[in-house]
Amino acid sequence: MPYAYDDQNIFAKILRGEIPCGKVMETEHTLAFHDISEQAPHHVLVIPKGPYVCFDHFATEASDAEIIDYTRTIGAVCKQLGIEPGEGGDGYRLIANAGRDAVQEVPHLHVHILGGRPLGRMLQ
Ligand code: IMP
Repeated sequence: MPYAYDDQNIFAKILRGEIPCGKVMETEHTLAFHDISEQAPHHVLVIPKGPYVCFDHFATEASDAEIIDYTRTIGAVCKQLGIEPGEGGDGYRLIANAGRDAVQEVPHLHVHILGGRPLGRMLQ
């Protein structure tokens, strides 16, 4: 079944400029901003500008240009934050919750970038 995108979700409102965000980076297809409830010293959300609900929706329906831009922007934000392990940073974790089982709160694809402290093991 095709995804129904709710254009009243909070990230859609941020994209339309109806509510503010702490912008970290913006490109043609992607926006990155601070999570309002930071769970680590660095906690940035990266969203595509297009109306995609979750990762599989994006990966199957977005254009190559959107996917490349999104992926590159996630990497660029990690670099800007100075947390990329290859460049002397201490590392980061990416999380993308999708649907009920993952308790996705906002139905617009977002990758959480978390870093700036030891994050512990997530999977045993
Ligand atoms: P989810 O559980 O993966 O859907 O995470 C949604 C995230 O959006 C949570 O970490 C919230 O703190 C964050 N969030 C909700 N509203 C806002 C907002 O207006 N600005 C920035 N982050 C938000």
